[in-house]
Amino acid sequence: MKKKNHNKFINCARSEVSKIELTERKTKFIEIYNSFSKNDAEDQSERCLECGNPYCQWKCPLHNYIPNWLKLVHDGRIIEAVNLSHQTNSFPEVCGRVCPQERLCEGSCTLDDGFGAVAIGNVEKYITDQAFAEGWSLNYPPLTSTKQVAIIGAGPAGLACADVLARYGIKSVVYDRQSHVGGLLTYGIPAFKLEKSIIARRQQILSNAGAEFKLNCEIGRDIQLSELESEYDAIFIGVGTYQSVQDAAISSEQIGVIKALDFLTEINQHILTANTTDDLTLVKDKTVVVLGGGDTTMDCLRSSLRLGAKQVIGVYRRSVDDLPGSKREYANACEEGAEFIFNAQPIGIIQEDGVLTGVKFIQTSLVESKDSSSTLQYIEGSEFIIDADLVITAFGFKPESLPWLDQQVETDQYGRIKTQSTTQQTHNTKIFAGGDIVRGASLVVHAIADGMQAGHEIVEFLA
Ligand code: FAD
Ligand code: SF4
Repeated sequence: MKKKNHNKFINCARSEVSKIELTERKTKFIEIYNSFSKNDAEDQSERCLECGNPYCQWKCPLHNYIPNWLKLVHDGRIIEAVNLSHQTNSFPEVCGRVCPQERLCEGSCTLDDGFGAVAIGNVEKYITDQAFAEGWSLNYPPLTSTKQVAIIGAGPAGLACADVLARYGIKSVVYDRQSHVGGLLTYGIPAFKLEKSIIARRQQILSNAGAEFKLNCEIGRDIQLSELESEYDAIFIGVGTYQSVQDAAISSEQIGVIKALDFLTEINQHILTANTTDDLTLVKDKTVVVLGGGDTTMDCLRSSLRLGAKQVIGVYRRSVDDLPGSKREYANACEEGAEFIFNAQPIGIIQEDGVLTGVKFIQTSLVESKDSSSTLQYIEGSEFIIDADLVITAFGFKPESLPWLDQQVETDQYGRIKTQSTTQQTHNTKIFAGGDIVRGASLVVHAIADGMQAGHEIVEFLA
């Protein structure tokens, strides 16, 4: 074991991984972050204070054993670190790449207050990438159980559930209506945040462990839930949220307006089939206005820049401090050339001869109420117009209607599947659910946490 310098955090600053050259990154759909070197990862890990009560671990939705794997990395014991990391996380290399760490583990690191948090996300990514590079593989047992589980949805929730079941030698059959697994990891999140090969590798690992994938198969259209219920011993539903929230004034029914997910999915699908975006002319030489303030907005802005848009402008109705998305992604969008207008609400589109030419906005301000909550108000007479050739709406997502649940599973007033308190089991004891369809649009790490928990609960249920 290497001797640890307990004052490392004083003479070694938090370090970020470097990004690929701006000129290169602005034109390509490849991950923008380089990886830590062995030295960087060990130095960052040594900065950990090994707090008696590690807040990072509590704040991480998966309660990862962060200080423990940081210590193993500092000692150069990567294989032990990767095994420990997989005890709590089915896909650590994914979380290391896409978690908004500043709001989760790193935001709770004791060193974040004055010294700069330990770069937990980048070390987590380093551990798994490095272990794979060294030929490490997860040891799954043979499929000895006679039970079989159907998983509806191959997003992070469904895949995490399949992973846990495989760890107990239980076969799962994963159904998805798309032709590739990954859900929004594949069709939503752009490749400059998460390359598609990362998901393909996980699919291969799960297939080797005995999970079966039935793709291009939509439950409710190709197969009914009742058929799965009679064929399988348990079912997990992780179908995500795919209905875009619409605005009263701007909708994708209007000429020149498209939904964020349609835009991103088209690009991702093109990358999956053609392996290039060179021939995509969706936004080439256009002025693109993206409405919203979350991660999806940043993804659309940055994708438009890569596809050769003339100008890209993000418009959010509140202030920069109120942006609901990750600050890191906002900074990346600014660096790459996106412009922003804050405190503006869209109130209509402008068309000339049936062609979109601009969007009309009104300025907003936040007014504090007596109960210290704040409401958004429009500033009279402050209307203005931004020229645009294309408008992308990114107002969030909610569940689609799921008539195929056929009242076998309860939903709430927002269409989310209801589970029993503190478990992923629905009121139909044979059916479990998790991820966005239970929480509403959320984060990858929450979907993985739900899928893993459901997997453990199904193991118990089947026993
Ligand atoms: P999904 O990933 O949506 O997967 C659901 C799967 O179910 C899909 O594959 C779908 O095809 C399938 N399905 C649906 N209905 C059926 C049916 N009837 N039959 C068969 N299959 C069906 N989170 C982060 O943590 N970090 C980020 O940077 C981030 N960026 C994002 C960017 C965008 C553009 C979007 C839209 C979301 C982003 N998120 C991010 C959120 C994150 O992707 C989701 O919270 C997460 O993917 C939810 O996982 P899930 O498994 O619940 O659902
Ligand atoms: Fe942090 Fe996400 Fe990893 Fe948890 S899973 S340690 S929140 S990066």
